[in-house]
Amino acid sequence: MRIIDVRAVQPHSPTAPQDWRSWLGQILVRVDTDDGLTGYGVGGGGKAGIHVVETVLREMLVGQDASDVEALWTQMYRKTLAFGQKGLAVMAISGADLALWDLRGKREGKPLVEALGGRAGEAMMAYKTGWSPREVETGNAQGFRAVKLQVGRQDAAGAIAQVRQVRQALGPDAQVMTDAFMSWDLETALQAAEGFAEYGVGWLEEPLPCDDLAGYEHLALKSPVPIAAGEHEYTAVAFEGWMRRELLAVYQPDVCWCGGMTELVKIYEMAGRYGVQVRPHRGAEVWGLHAIAALDPEPLAESGRPWMTWVKDQPEIVDGEIRVTDRPGFGVTFDEGVWALDK
Ligand SMILES: [Mg+2]
Repeated sequence: MRIIDVRAVQPHSPTAPQDWRSWLGQILVRVDTDDGLTGYGVGGGGKAGIHVVETVLREMLVGQDASDVEALWTQMYRKTLAFGQKGLAVMAISGADLALWDLRGKREGKPLVEALGGRAGEAMMAYKTGWSPREVETGNAQGFRAVKLQVGRQDAAGAIAQVRQVRQALGPDAQVMTDAFMSWDLETALQAAEGFAEYGVGWLEEPLPCDDLAGYEHLALKSPVPIAAGEHEYTAVAFEGWMRRELLAVYQPDVCWCGGMTELVKIYEMAGRYGVQVRPHRGAEVWGLHAIAALDPEPLAESGRPWMTWVKDQPEIVDGEIRVTDRPGFGVTFDEGVWALDK
């Protein structure tokens, strides 16, 4: 099962938001092997990510046996270490790693949930992320029993008022989480957390910039609501640094950015040892969903990106629940036309 080709492309998403998620956004990586199989994975980094895949990673991977994914991950990481470690280079590695995992499942003829020790078809709870109280309330009406409200880009009083509105609309039984997308300072984060406690907020996500470890340390000691973060952290080694310092209650790796399935599996294993939760960023997309189904003692999957319509055959969230299918690998397909795109 030798690798004969590695390619990457950034499929067009006409409805993608016009910010870095488009310009440096999701790339599709394919790895072809000499036994006729193709594995697909989604990474990040836009054109810069494609360049890393098709130069450094391609040169290293072609000719190698595809089956020892973990060893190939280490080689990819070492090849990019001088300019990588976090950010774009690891986002590119993530796509290649996920493509190698897709090949692993396809070679065994199994969905990855089974390769990871779980079962396909079991219902998992999903939560809806919304950018306004109205949007999360709509999600609740659609059957979601857990929602997350984006509360950043306003002061603590404004955020608390929105959380109060959502809690009153959804009642005491709904799970309500919050996300400030790195937009606050420590004082604002603490004020918000103290206000949120009265409304039973499940977690406060990314209140501070992702590199403010001292700030997160302070919050871990003072916040009355659990603090979550991790969608902008990279590699299991870095996650272990956070866990060792007991900085968070909830870790949110993005499998398409943090290094792929190889790293997500390690993060789940470490989280079990450290007694913390893993709630992968946009976990309802297949790339994280198989790991959630197999490895999470209390699965909870975040609604994905509706504009990524070029990933075909993804399972849908129905009445707030989602199930992985029993198709081999990640179980998704792509139109051949995406490979004809101008890079
Ligand atoms: Mg977030």
